[in-house]
Parts: sequence; C-alpha cells; structure tokens
Amino acid sequence: MDAGTGTQLEASDDPPQPGGVDDPVYRELTRWGVPAAADLSGALRDYLPDADGELIHRAYDFAARHHFGQYRKSGKPYFDHPVAVARVLIKMRLDEASVCAGLLHDVVEDCDCTLQELTNKFTSEIGHIVDGVTKLDKIPFNRREQKQAENFRKMLVAMSKDIRVLLIKLADRLHNMSTLQHMKPKKRRIKALETVEIYAPLANRLGIHWMKSQLEDYCFQYLYPDDYSALKLSVGRRETERDAYTKRVVKLLKNELARADMIGVRVYGRPKHLFGIYRKMQVQKLPFDQIYDALGFRIVVQTVEQCYRALGVVHSKFTPIPGRFKDYIALPKANNYRSLHTTVIGPDNQHVEVQIRTMEMHQIAENGVAAHWRYKEKDRAIKVRDEQKFTWLKQLMEVNEQVSDSDEFLDSMRIDLFADEVYAFTPAGEVKVFPRGSTPIDLAYSIHTQVGEHAMGAKINGQMVPLDTKLRNGDIVEIMTRNDARPNQDWLEFVQTARAKTRIRNFVRAEQRTRAKAVGRDLLEKAFRRAKHSLTRVQKHDDFDAMLSGFRVQTFDELAIQVGYGKTEAQKVVDKLLPDESEPEPEPVIAPPRRGRKSQGRASIVVDGIDDVLVRFPKCCSPVPGDDIIGFVTRGRGISVHRRGCARALDSDPLRRIDCDWDLSRGSAASVMVRVHTGNSPGMLAEMSHRFREAGVNILGANCRSVGKQRAISEFEVEVKDTGQLQAVLDKLSKLEFVVRVERVAG
Ligand code: MN
Repeated sequence: MDAGTGTQLEASDDPPQPGGVDDPVYRELTRWGVPAAADLSGALRDYLPDADGELIHRAYDFAARHHFGQYRKSGKPYFDHPVAVARVLIKMRLDEASVCAGLLHDVVEDCDCTLQELTNKFTSEIGHIVDGVTKLDKIPFNRREQKQAENFRKMLVAMSKDIRVLLIKLADRLHNMSTLQHMKPKKRRIKALETVEIYAPLANRLGIHWMKSQLEDYCFQYLYPDDYSALKLSVGRRETERDAYTKRVVKLLKNELARADMIGVRVYGRPKHLFGIYRKMQVQKLPFDQIYDALGFRIVVQTVEQCYRALGVVHSKFTPIPGRFKDYIALPKANNYRSLHTTVIGPDNQHVEVQIRTMEMHQIAENGVAAHWRYKEKDRAIKVRDEQKFTWLKQLMEVNEQVSDSDEFLDSMRIDLFADEVYAFTPAGEVKVFPRGSTPIDLAYSIHTQVGEHAMGAKINGQMVPLDTKLRNGDIVEIMTRNDARPNQDWLEFVQTARAKTRIRNFVRAEQRTRAKAVGRDLLEKAFRRAKHSLTRVQKHDDFDAMLSGFRVQTFDELAIQVGYGKTEAQKVVDKLLPDESEPEPEPVIAPPRRGRKSQGRASIVVDGIDDVLVRFPKCCSPVPGDDIIGFVTRGRGISVHRRGCARALDSDPLRRIDCDWDLSRGSAASVMVRVHTGNSPGMLAEMSHRFREAGVNILGANCRSVGKQRAISEFEVEVKDTGQLQAVLDKLSKLEFVVRVERVAG
C-alpha cells in the first residue's frame, strides 16, 4: 500500500464503551483489540468535522450487540469484521452514512434484524445502503469466460444504484481476503478467483488503485502460492540493496528539483505490488532479477505547470527511454487517472519509472471515484445523491481502459451505455445483457433457438411467471420447455431482442408456408381430378419444369404455396398446363357465391403481406371491413375469414390459423345480418328501409315476422362498406321510436 493516503487508526486504551469492562459485549471486544466507536468517529471527524459521532456510536453498539456470540473462522468475534470494513471506508474518506452502513452491513443477513428495524433505528439512507449490500451478496457468481466477468461487473454496478453500496462491497471483500487463510483451500481458491476476475478489476475501474493492488496481491497469494512465496522471498532478499538505491535516487531527484526552484515537492520511491511485478515477469518472460522497474518513483507537486517542469528536470538529469513517456494529464485514463509517466535510465543503468502528479491527481489516483466526488464537492465526503453522478460511473465502467484517443474518450463518456440494459442469469448461471423490458422469451432465444421455440413457461427466482414478465437485474431465469410447444405470434408484441423477433417471425412464416403448401397441393389435386387428370402424372411430364416457368416459380412447391395463399387459382393452373383438353368449369369450390344471393362482398383481404388471396366469409360471423379478423386455411376451400371472437374461429385448429387483414386501400363491401326488435305498428318496414337508404346501405334481403301481438323481429341482410357505416346505420335504427333493440347477428 502506498504511504500518504488513508487515515491510520489505532485502538485506544479505553474500553470500547458504553458498558465498559462490565459489559460482556465490550469486554470481549476489548480483549480482542477491536477498535472502539470513538476511534472510528474520531478518524471520521479528521476529514468530516461536522460528522454525527453519536450516529456512529449507536450503529457500533447496535451491530456489536447483534453480532455478539458470533465468531469468525479465525476465532475472533464476528464484529471485528464490520469494524474492519468501516475502517476501510474511513480510509476512503466516505461519509458517516457509509461508515454506519459498513458497521451494520451484515446484521440483516446474519442476525435476526429486519431492514425496517434498521430504517426505524437509524435513517432510511442507511437502510437503503445496507439493503443494497445484502442484495449484492445474494447474487451467485458462476464463472467463466472473460465476457462473463465483464457482464457480472456491470450487473453489480447496475444493481448497486448507490455507489456507496459498491464501495462497501469492495471494503467487505478486501477484509475477507485478508482473513482468507482461515478458510478451506477450496473455498480460498473460489474466493480468490472471484476477486481477481470481478472485484479487483472493479476497484481498478473505480480508480481505487491501492485497493486494486491489495486485492490482487491476496489473489496472487492464494492462486499461485508457490510463485508468490518465491517472489516474496526474492523481493525481500534485495530489500537492503533496494532501500539504499531508493534513497540515492530520491536524494538525487530532490536536489535537482530544488535547484530548479521547486519547493513543497514530495519525492518517494515505492516497490510495485507483488502481483504487478509478477505480471510483468510473465508478460516480458523475464526472471525477477531482470525486472528493472520493479521500483517506481513518485513526484508530487502543487500545480499542473510544475508537473511538466519536474518532467523536464527528470529528463535533463537522466536519459529517458523512448516510447515510455505517457501524458495522462493531457489525456486522462478512463477512470480519471491523471499523471505523467516516464521511464529513465537511473544510476547503475537501472530502468526507473517516475510518475509525476499534483496532490489532487494523487488523491484521485489512490481513491478514484471517492476522491473524484470529494474534489467536486469541495473536500466534503462523498454524498452521491443525483443520478447524474451515477451515470458517470456507469459510463466509466463501459469505457475500454485502453482508450487513448481523446475524441474517442470523450465520446464514450457522453453515451449513457447501460441505462437501457438489464442483466439476468440463464439457468446455467451465465450472466446475459438484454435491452430493458426484455422477457423470459428473449432470454430463451438467447440460449438457443430450440429453447425459444419450445418454451412453454418460465420461473424467475424460483417463481412461475407469465412469459411476458419484464426481467430485472439479477433475476435468475429458468425456462420450461416441452417438445410440442410452439412459438406464439403474440410473443412478437413483447419480445425486445432482435434475435427473438427474427426467430419468431421466421417460425411463423415457415409454418404458414408449410400450411399453404399443403393446402395448395390439395387444391391442385382436386382441380386436376375435376379435369379428369392426375397431378402426379402431370408432374412426371418431361417439360414439367419448363411449364412451371409460366407461373414465375422454380419449383412445384412454390407453385403450391402460391395456390395455397390464393395468389394463383388452382383452376388457372389446370387451364394453363392442360390447354387442349380442359373444359373450363365455373369454380364451385373457392369463394362460392353465398346461397344464390348477389355479391357476397367484394372486400379484399391481405394475408401475411400477400394480397389477391381467394377468401371466403363463412356465414357464422359475417366479418365486415374494420372488424378484427383471423383467417383459417381450410382444406380445399381456400382461406376462410372469421371475426376474431367468433366461436367457430376459437374452436378451429390453431395450427391452421393465419394472420390476415382488410385491404382498406380498395373499395370494399361485405354483407352482414342486422336484426331489429320492434313493437308492432304499421309502416315500420318503410321507415326502417328509409334509414338504410339514408345511410347509403344496400338491402340484399329482408325477413319480418311478428312475435305475439305486440312484438316483431325484422332481419335485414345488408351490404356495408365497413364497420363505421354499419355502426352508423345501427345508431339511426335504434333512434326510431318503435325500435326496442338493434343487433348485428353474429352467427
Ligand atoms: Mn461482510
């Protein structure tokens, strides 16, 4: 860890209070040397003079009593852990709510204390933070793959909502890593892997350099124990030598800077953290002896201008190594890191890395996100209230660390990259990103098309949910499949991902084509049979393929599909393929005129984007343009169109359903039955006919009968343009004095 940051805490001699030595809770804490509440509040006041010390004391007491009787694997009282976490938070100079939440972060999870109780006893702010930490703890992390880790980090950020939740989680992890030796080897490895993949990079993204280094060193220790001990030994062996060298360089630099009239400048040398050296050895494939810049020097000055002057001093004293100078002041790193870096050839031809920065830059380099807010808020502790700051963080998370181009950097800062995203787990524990509003069906298709196509139900966090449920961050989603389950066209109304949309659409289209093909084939067979011919025989004809080209199709299947969709009439195919022998017949099968009455409506229908379809309107519900309709591919009789709510339609085989719509671009007319219940008085029929005429509605037929002495029922079959015209005439009729009730006959 670097010198110069953080606040040192020492356990005071006084017993931790309040009951003093007579209080068993405090007696135990004293015995184990757990820092007292006063130590924490004192350290907090160092940087936050008007911090509420009483609040800290209450949180301390509350948590200490709740954890009393619980012990860590090390044998220490459990409360040692929350206090250690609170100390890390103080080191990061967080506000009092964060420190209290740090003390209380495990009481909801580990003690029988509710969130409500915390909120009542303390503040809703503290309650929210503790709640956030508790929730993060519940997210299971199943690795692997780089991409997974990245998504997982983003999910943590997205779920944290308040940056303080994330910082407490990091502090918690740091302390747990420092006590990892008490865990079983298998558990150590799991925790270390999780830390190196998730938490250390997170600390790095947040710019908290010291924490990243410490976390990495702990991981190094548990993941590669042998390499760790060996390297630690080598570093230690050269300690005296290195100390002497460090002192020499520091003195040289100080003298040079003083000679250039730079005062108030701090210069110090520091060994790099072990994992950093190790990584360098791996990348450069060199033994430790040959890793020169295992030693770094830092010059901390007061102004930006002094940074560049100090750089000049360094470069005039020592020869810089070409290509190693980096100006992160002009082009800050994505995590807001700013400094000048250079590597020079120092005394004894050693490569020496020098970092030059102002005090403010130094704070940001060490404390990252925390320092950023502190400086923005004029040296106050962080208070993250407005969404904007969090947006900044989210963007920070997204930005590729290697961004070096300043335009690219600014661009990436501007785009809010994941307000519109949601992170959820697949059944296999993989984290996936979806557009906000996505549903289990989107997730199913993201796993595999087959899973999407056979999805019949979903569970979120173990609960059955409707398939259109919107996913939330951290949801664990399980998809139930069944072999005979099929995609439903209605899914298109709620799925969000392009993948799911395309797959569902393709499925529906393919299914409709299959149906159309069967229907078309059927129609063709019948038509050929009527012409005393066999389709199979015609197909065997040598010139059959050439014949097909007359229909602008390549294959017979395509022709069958055209016929099935009604684009081409079966009879026309017969006429064309058998020009000599066919006797043109009226076609009794497709769209027959209804029971000898005049025109059964010239309304046009569009089926799945294809117009000119031959359709029939069954008597049961007489759809009228404007009605919500659905088509059925009938065997041998084209497509019959029903109103969507029609009982016959609901009974029909769903697999034969086909979407269709009115083609309103053409003049249309459809017949419909209107029933009028009336009293019984003379001249009624004339009166009613007049109303139809007024509305421009043509009467195709009428039937009137009396029901008893006082009542009569008249039924009119009329031709209307659309539902609007129909409604208009129904309204007119119902206003007649003798009319009791008017209805459209459904079937
Ligand atoms: Mn904890």
